[in-house]
This record gives sequence, structure tokens and C-alpha cells, in this order.
Amino acid sequence: MEKILIQDCLILPATHRLGKKEKTQDLLIKGDIAIDGGRLLKVGPEGTIPSDWNPGKIINGKNFLCLPGLINCHTHAAMTLLRSYADDLPLMYWLEKKIWPIEARLTGEDVYWGTLLALIEMIKSGTTTFNDMYFYMDETAQAVEKIGMRACLARGLVGIGNQAEKGLEESRAFIEKWQEGAGGRIKVWLGPHAPYTCPPSYLKKVISLAQEYDVGIHIHVSETKDEIAQIEKKYKKTPVGYLQEIGLFQFPVLAAHCVHLTDEDINLLAESGISIAHNPESNMKLASGIAPVAKLRAAGITVGLGTDGAASNNNLDMFGEMRTAALLHKVVNEDPLVLPASEVILMATRDGARALGLENEVGMLKPGLKADLILINLNQAHLFPRHNLVAHLVYAAQGHDVDTVIIDGKVVMEHRKILTVDEELVRAEVEKRIPRLTSPG
Ligand SMILES: [Zn+2]
Repeated sequence: MEKILIQDCLILPATHRLGKKEKTQDLLIKGDIAIDGGRLLKVGPEGTIPSDWNPGKIINGKNFLCLPGLINCHTHAAMTLLRSYADDLPLMYWLEKKIWPIEARLTGEDVYWGTLLALIEMIKSGTTTFNDMYFYMDETAQAVEKIGMRACLARGLVGIGNQAEKGLEESRAFIEKWQEGAGGRIKVWLGPHAPYTCPPSYLKKVISLAQEYDVGIHIHVSETKDEIAQIEKKYKKTPVGYLQEIGLFQFPVLAAHCVHLTDEDINLLAESGISIAHNPESNMKLASGIAPVAKLRAAGITVGLGTDGAASNNNLDMFGEMRTAALLHKVVNEDPLVLPASEVILMATRDGARALGLENEVGMLKPGLKADLILINLNQAHLFPRHNLVAHLVYAAQGHDVDTVIIDGKVVMEHRKILTVDEELVRAEVEKRIPRLTSPG
């Protein structure tokens, strides 16, 4: 693997939280980064890298800001195929009349190309790791392998209807085939869809599979008021109470959404060490509500950020998600001190890695960790002047400002050109499939 030196760069390592007496700019270093064998060898001020160290590639970091690759904690990548197909509709109508009929027509190949489109979009907006739940996961994993991203992948499991058992079998086969696949870049999880689609007898089967393979669980939890009412009616519990009682929380769980929670739910999630994926834009677009992120963080719960699928966002740009999260929680708490920029960046990097159990691999720029990083082009009108670059990243930057992306020590995008797939071909393949997917019957 190539040795890479990034020289003379501003670096946001995301290795520590802002101390009380520190200024935001103290979070930055000006210096060099050395990458060897897919990992970070050195990160530090000029002079950190021994002069006799010979890199195969040198990147001039002048006018760039380098930070850990962003981590999208909750998405359904192939839903890019449904982007802007149905908007501004009530949730159940949107699902039943629009989304599900198209999903029923999807083939494995559709999912492969739709996923590649999503991965191109994610890389081009600075995401290096994502957490996915969908179907045709073999094709999803192939797309991840091809483009060179890092991912946690789960086959979505719905415990009602005729696909229930098939989903479990496919999950087992998927774990057997892809766990630690693509050179260790792929981790396979189990993906029971949600409390309202997974009855107790089914969740017990998911639990025994999780036990057998020692894997994490990715699930939607407490997304809408309707879900709360359904679970209350069936089990006399909240969704969180239901999952806890059934024993799901004995595993590492990433709960997406957690919009509607009681104080008791928050205590249960904190005690059980459950991590949460906060998806502010999806929750706003579907009018689901606002997750109590400030309360969750105060309870010591790890909260990462996610975009959710492109049908309910409608993009996969984590810069947009950071900005929305920072603004939303200020206005809802009527407190401009809630979620400062430096904390929001940690949510999208270090906390996201922790939420996915990857804290010893990615999420920070620290020697020994995998080399997943992005370079932001600072030479742009909307990033001038440079009073506070950390604030710029959250309040002014856009995904389009990402110039170069390195994942697992490999340059995957250079000066905005993806090096591992033909972007034009992917767009054409996606476009070709749309008439069949959207034609009725
Ligand atoms: Zn989702």
C-alpha cells in the first residue's frame, strides 16, 4: 500500500473536546500527516515526520483543512433511486402508495447501481463510512467493495408477511459471506426494521442470530407518534420498553431516530449503552418530530448523525445534516449555546464511530487509526475570512467543498474526481432503470 504524505495542512484531528479555557481555533493544528499501510503513521506540527521517510505520493495541503471522514450513521443507500419521486405527502400515504410499490419492483442490479450513486454522492460530500439497512445486501456490499468505502451493512428484517423467514436466512448468509469483507471495510449487522414491524417471536429469532454471530443491531426506534400509539396498544409499553424487555439491548444497538421518548426511555437507553442515529432532516421532512438530542447527550448517550434515505431528505450530504442539527436544537431549546459547532463535528466523526463500534478504527486523526480523511478546499468566497474555521465547517461549508478523500489509506477522490468508479456510467445506469421502476403494474 502506498505511503502518502499530506504536507503543510490545517488539521482538525477531532481527538478531544473543547476545554473550558480553550478557543475553538485551539482544536486545529498546522502540520503534516503521514499514511502508511492504510493507517495514520504520524499526525502533527511541521517536523513531526522524519526527513528520511520516503512517501510514494505527496499532497500539498496548503489552503486545505483536513479532518476525519464523516460518518453517516443511518441511511438506505439505494433509495437514491426514489429521490424526488414522492415528496410533501403524509408518511403512510408516501410509504404505501409511492415508496413500497417501487421497492417491490427493485432487482439486485437496481440496488447495485442505486447504491453506487449514493456512494458517489457520499464520497463527494465527505462521508467515508456509512451505516445501511436495506435489501439485496450482497449487491450493496459489492458496490461498497468496488468504490472503496467503509460500511456497516444490515439486511432489513420485517417480521410480518411472507418475507420474514427469508430475511433471516439471507442475513445469515450475508454474515457468512461478508463479515470483515472488502479488506475489513465491511462489518455486517442485523437489521430488524422497527418495533412495529417485528413481533416478539421474530425478535427472539433475531436475538439468537445476534448471539450466534456476535454482531450489532441496527433498528428504527420511536420515529413517529403513530408508532408509539401502536406499540402502546399492543404491548402496553413504549417502543424502548418493548425492546428492552425482549432482551435486544444486551447487544450493541444503534437506534435510528428516537424522536419520541419518555424520561424513563432515556434512562433505559443510557443504562443499556444504546447509541442513537439522529436524522434531523428526515424527521423534519416527514414531520415526525424533533429528537431530544440535548437531553440524550446530557444523559451520556452517544449520538451520531445520519441522513436517512434520499427519499426522505433528499440528499446524503452530512455537511447539510451537521448544519441542520446545530440550528434545529438551538431553536427548539431557545438556546444558542446548544450544540456548538465543535460538538456537532464530533457527532459526525468521533461519536459516529463510537455509535458503530468503530472507535478504535476511525473517527479521529490519530496515529494507529485507519487513514480515513477528507480535505476541504478553503479557497472559496463562502469560507472567507477565516475567523473560525470550525464554525465554517458547520455553518458555511457544503459537501461540494470536499476536494480529496482518502479511505483506508487509498485516495478514492482527488480534486473532486472519483478514482474508483466511472461516475458518468453510474448516472446513466440509474437513469436507464427509472422508466421500468415508475411504470405502474
Ligand atoms: Zn431509515
